[in-house]
Amino acid sequence: MTLLYKSTRNTDNVVPASQAILQGLATDGGLYVPTELPKLELNFDELAQKSYQEVAYLIMSAFYPDFTEEELRYCIDSAYDTKFDDAAIAPVVKKGNDYYLELFHGSTIAFKDMALSILPYLMTTSAKKNGVDSEIVILTATSGDTGKAAMAGFADVPGTKIIVFYPKDGVSKIQEKQMVTQKGDNTYVVAIDGNFDDAQSMVKSLFNDAALKQALADNGKQFSSANSINIGRLIPQVVYYVYAYAQLVKQGEIKNGEEINVSVPTGNFGNILAGYYAKQLGVPFKQLICASNPNKVLTDFFQTGVYDRNRPFFVTSSPSMDILISSNLERLIFHLTGDDVAQTNELMNQLTSEGKYEITPEMKARLTDFIGDFATEEETKATIEEIYQEAQYVLDPHTAVAASVLAKHKEANTPSLVVSTASPYKFPRVVVEALTQKEATKDDFDLVDELYRLSNVVIPQAVTELLDAPVRHNRVVAVNEMKPCVTEILAIK
Ligand SMILES: *Cc1c(COP(=O)(O)O)cnc(C)c1O
Repeated sequence: MTLLYKSTRNTDNVVPASQAILQGLATDGGLYVPTELPKLELNFDELAQKSYQEVAYLIMSAFYPDFTEEELRYCIDSAYDTKFDDAAIAPVVKKGNDYYLELFHGSTIAFKDMALSILPYLMTTSAKKNGVDSEIVILTATSGDTGKAAMAGFADVPGTKIIVFYPKDGVSKIQEKQMVTQKGDNTYVVAIDGNFDDAQSMVKSLFNDAALKQALADNGKQFSSANSINIGRLIPQVVYYVYAYAQLVKQGEIKNGEEINVSVPTGNFGNILAGYYAKQLGVPFKQLICASNPNKVLTDFFQTGVYDRNRPFFVTSSPSMDILISSNLERLIFHLTGDDVAQTNELMNQLTSEGKYEITPEMKARLTDFIGDFATEEETKATIEEIYQEAQYVLDPHTAVAASVLAKHKEANTPSLVVSTASPYKFPRVVVEALTQKEATKDDFDLVDELYRLSNVVIPQAVTELLDAPVRHNRVVAVNEMKPCVTEILAIK
């Protein structure tokens, strides 16, 4: 049997990987999951000798069987190259008693780069394979990070264009500079006189605009989205879990087969779900620790079996985890039901209508792979300070949430791996405040210098090059001008 992808909402919807990547979300509203788990003999003594790219090929060829070797190697080699400032791509380091898997060595110094650097190549290759010759236009609204990571991934990828809208006064100074200096002849960045929700709703309505869709088709173009539910983002994330375990074996830190715990700072449940798939493939993970910030909807879910988004929303120092609907959780729910489409539909419909659902005791009994817990804002800051004192290692606030939660569940004889999702230089204000224990009053760029003086951690090139990068984008439009702006950029009537 070959591995295909089936929707969590409709048993009849089964497609090859390349079509699932092109569609993103299934047309029935469900998420695509593999019809079976690939059978891989993971020999970590052998894997320890392999490069990141070789491990990526092993995992992706198993999950994307309709891609040829040549196609996959082209995608992998185009994605994981010198855009990353470390040849290991995802290095594992030991600091204090724990290990950290650093996923922040790509173009935007955060974990989204791991998947968004390869997604554009997977998409354009999928289009070719399926005889789709239209240009792929990515349209997205961003509150800062994801849009930038998507642009960095799509910049100058043949056969694509990307248009990103961001709220003019709703992003940090560093984020704004990252946006307006974006390189690439196919990238378009537009500031909106409005907030993120305004931009997001208008982008949604443009996606659903039938006349616009037709006009695009008449001009040989089609919209697509790069959001985190695409299996073209999920599967590349399985790779670094396999690679990390192999690196620990290689470094002599663990014995082949020894169980380790993994703590993951979680928002949309994409990163940790990839860890769960890695465990099912045979990576010896004991517990997957799902670490949340005060938006602890997942903590409550793992502890009680009730998912309830009806609660206050907190703006925290780990903004990429400020999420009340973790969209990738639907895949875990589906697996907990024993791949039961009817039951999944029922629970997801309850989430839409009432904002909450409760899983059955049988499903809850299957949650043994996970521990859910959270860190308060105070605990997160204290952890940044503590780890720095103990190990001279500076964590960003997202990683600090995972380290803080890990400390509460640490088992004496089980090695632990913290998944590190951003460079501290991405969030200099919070980090400097944690290290100095007082309010930081300078602007972001001065805080970068201060963080360097405090920590001696090399400033990533992604930050230094911003200082004198030329501004390439200066469009500012009102929300109701977004549609004409898109048609003008794409030169369609
Ligand atoms: C997106 C993000 C997360 C959360 O990852 P999910 O896959 O949404 O759970 C954590 N940390 C950082 C820095 C991120 O950008």
